[in-house]
Amino acid sequence: MELGTPLSSAAVRVLLLGSGELGKEVIVALQRLGCETIAADRYENAPGHQVAHRAHVLDMTDPVAIRRLVELEKPHLIVPEIEAIATDELVRIEADGICEVIPTARAAQLTMNREGIRRLAAETLGLATSPYKFASSLDELRAAVDGGIGYPCVIKPTMSSSGKGQSVVRLPDALAAAWEYAAKGGRVDSGRVIVEGFVDFDYEITMLTVRAKSVSGEVETSFCEPVGHVQVSGDYVESWQPQAMNPLALERARGIAHKVTEALGGRGIFGVELFVKGDMVWFSEVSPRPHDTGLVTLGTQRLSEFELHARAILGLPVDTTLRRPGASAVIYGGVEAGAMKFPGVAEALAVPETDIRLFGKPESFAKRRMGVVVATADTVDQARERANTAAAKVVPRAA
Ligand code: AMP
Repeated sequence: MELGTPLSSAAVRVLLLGSGELGKEVIVALQRLGCETIAADRYENAPGHQVAHRAHVLDMTDPVAIRRLVELEKPHLIVPEIEAIATDELVRIEADGICEVIPTARAAQLTMNREGIRRLAAETLGLATSPYKFASSLDELRAAVDGGIGYPCVIKPTMSSSGKGQSVVRLPDALAAAWEYAAKGGRVDSGRVIVEGFVDFDYEITMLTVRAKSVSGEVETSFCEPVGHVQVSGDYVESWQPQAMNPLALERARGIAHKVTEALGGRGIFGVELFVKGDMVWFSEVSPRPHDTGLVTLGTQRLSEFELHARAILGLPVDTTLRRPGASAVIYGGVEAGAMKFPGVAEALAVPETDIRLFGKPESFAKRRMGVVVATADTVDQARERANTAAAKVVPRAA
């Protein structure tokens, strides 16, 4: 794919389906390579809308709306940034040869549903995962837990991410409430959950894995240094890079990441989520796109995960070199409001080696991610301290 002048007949046009903070960074990276960018999201003034050449608001779970947009914009590449998309339509668009879906339409389809990716990883590829079962009713859920999963267990809607509708259940009494919570918290009320045995891991990582063309045109796999992270209620609050790992665990983590990304195929970056205990590594899930915990790479790597994604999808070679240890800390909205003020940014940036991203989301709510601080240092511990200290200085308020 030859790069060309944007807004001309020579342009490479890229359509982002989902234009949050991750999509915004991908758009910026693409524009630095002269691409013409089109941002779509379900609400107006999404972060990516604010930096793209053109912006569209649509329901991305509506196949007709997706097809209409693709026919209007005629992109060369469709880059899904979220999971909740009419992926069956993406499969048809790809099959009709209209444009390429990143990494592939099938990968988007398999990963939008926990059942698709879990069965691929555990049953087709034979990767180690937590024990799991699927259930479509409270009775089935009870039978799955009593029949082997046991307590504690983790219950998640099959159509969900970022901890939505997810709960850890320690006692039989709490199963009914977890079922209700999952039914309400899912993206689409599919009435289906996955119940997983609780993995008592030492730490969890995201293995950012890139499938990109080498100069000879072959797709090669490369790995970023592992990203460690802390999740609260299934949502990421802090990440750092590199996460120290023993050599065997690292080799196994890369092996799993290699297998699962190869099975999904295509080009681009993938966030492979893994649990680690000693030498043992379990596959948890994978995003066929930049990962929120990878925001740390804005400060740590020669090329951030967003620049790696942009290069990989355009068929360009990549470089996953780590420049310096670093950490990221999330800034939550804290309040429910429209326009916001962000006091404390100057104080935050006075902490050495820190940088900030305010995403520009038009509305805040308590647990909405509104920004992130990224810090670097000689060690990960120092970087974490800097990132957390700086993030705590920014306390958003309603304007
Ligand atoms: P997920 O949405 O599946 O990525 O889950 C969000 C977070 O919940 C993970 O990053 C873990 O911290 C935790 N978690 C999910 N599944 C399990 C499990 N089977 N055992 C222990 N912790 C889990």
